Amino acid sequence: MSDFTTTIGLEVHCQLLTQAKMFCRCSTDYIGKEPNTLVCPVCLGLPGSLPVLNQKVVELALRAALALHCQILPQTLFHRKNYFYPDLPKGYQISQYNLPIGIDGFLEFYSQGVRKKARIRRIHIEEDAGKLVHEGAFLPPGTSGVDCNRCGIPLVEIVTEPDLSSPEEARDCLMMLRNIVCYLEVSDGNMEEGSLRCDANISLSSSSLTGVKVEVKNMNSFRSVYRALSYEVERQRKLLEEGKPVFQETRHWDEIKGVTVSARGKEEAEDYRYFPDPDLLPFSLKTEMIEEIKSGLLELPLEKEERFMTQYELSQGEAEILVQDREIADFFEDTLRNFNKPRMVCNWIVTEVFRNLKELGTTISRAKITPSHLAELLKMVDRKEISGTMAKSVLEEMFTSGARAREIVTRRGMALINDEKELENIVKEVIEKNPQSVADYLSGKEKALQFLIGQVMKETRGQADPELTRNILIKVLSSEE
Ligand code: ADP
Ligand code: ZN
Ligand code: MG
Repeated sequence: MSDFTTTIGLEVHCQLLTQAKMFCRCSTDYIGKEPNTLVCPVCLGLPGSLPVLNQKVVELALRAALALHCQILPQTLFHRKNYFYPDLPKGYQISQYNLPIGIDGFLEFYSQGVRKKARIRRIHIEEDAGKLVHEGAFLPPGTSGVDCNRCGIPLVEIVTEPDLSSPEEARDCLMMLRNIVCYLEVSDGNMEEGSLRCDANISLSSSSLTGVKVEVKNMNSFRSVYRALSYEVERQRKLLEEGKPVFQETRHWDEIKGVTVSARGKEEAEDYRYFPDPDLLPFSLKTEMIEEIKSGLLELPLEKEERFMTQYELSQGEAEILVQDREIADFFEDTLRNFNKPRMVCNWIVTEVFRNLKELGTTISRAKITPSHLAELLKMVDRKEISGTMAKSVLEEMFTSGARAREIVTRRGMALINDEKELENIVKEVIEKNPQSVADYLSGKEKALQFLIGQVMKETRGQADPELTRNILIKVLSSEE
């Protein structure tokens, strides 16, 4: 049995966050809209209509290209990519071909704790096609239709070199790519709704065998990218081990069956009969524009991640979770301004804050809690005014009502009991009521102590300071011996 090397390269389509389409003024806000209501002669490609390039498209594409460290070509132009498909009324897509907006960049990311780098071959601008619809509110049962609302929505396609060597790496690379375009507000990065679509090319090779690459399409989550590629590794390995050939082809991922299925042979560039779009002149990108966009780039996720690791002494894993969402990263740092314990804040965010957001189905920017409110709560925990358990329940109410921690604690009368005398009295009562547990503890059963602490908590409705309770219990019990 030979050892195989896995090679993967990604082709990612990413919808740009513009309000108008690429060459006309039609709205891009098509989700849930009645089919074919956001169309005009330009995006339908009717004879005599003329495309006019939306400047915002160039700006967003440049932002992405620069963030991916691409070289920007001084002059570029649009080609027509010709093919027939029912969702493409024009019969061609306007795209960039031999002169894309950016080339030769790279993307860095962490995969399983190790810093990796994938080279970016190119990033080019193109328009989206429409959609075939086979079911839904706007369609009589048993019929199919074409919805052109998506025709002409601007995309960038980002193509990596085959630098990824496992399904995990491919997934992590894609996650970072999504993170970058979201940070830059180049795209909303929504994979389920198709704003971010990934095709993956994968081949297996060995010392005696060059790989044949298979293109996998139709994956609409990070999980499905990972699963589809893992499936392909196994499928190709089996074929090669049996001495059978792997065919160069396009395969579709079937999410429900968990398999890839052969879709069609691979088309070549020649099949598309690319030629320069005669309606659109070549254009150049001014140095000032490039410089302006470059200087306007915010701190990118990887830089932020590494800054969090050094500045706040977080682990790579902790920093990574926080920077996965720019708003969460900002929330974290804003909380620190009022309560400077990074690890504690991080822990509360990735467990309790995330849990509440998930339960309420909301995001941090829409939630009622603010960074200073969280800081206030954590300060109370830190000063042992309330226990961690109490704080969790307070936080829940902060999320639902927007009230402040102190207000909730006062209203519920839930300040921590840390008066020794008071606690000692309660402890004595509990000891009196539970002679069996006391005997158990005295005969060496540590578990009995936990039970007694639990009883004190019950008596005080969870308000006893747990550490103090423990200490007092041990003290009182040792005098019973
Ligand atoms: P094609 O000409 O068939 O479109 P390209 O060379 O343009 O192939 O590459 C398309 C994608 O396939 C790129 O993302 C690239 O990284 C990837 N790729 C190229 N060679 C391989 C390979 N041997 N194994 C896996 N992916 C590959
Ligand atoms: Zn239009
Ligand atoms: Mg290609």
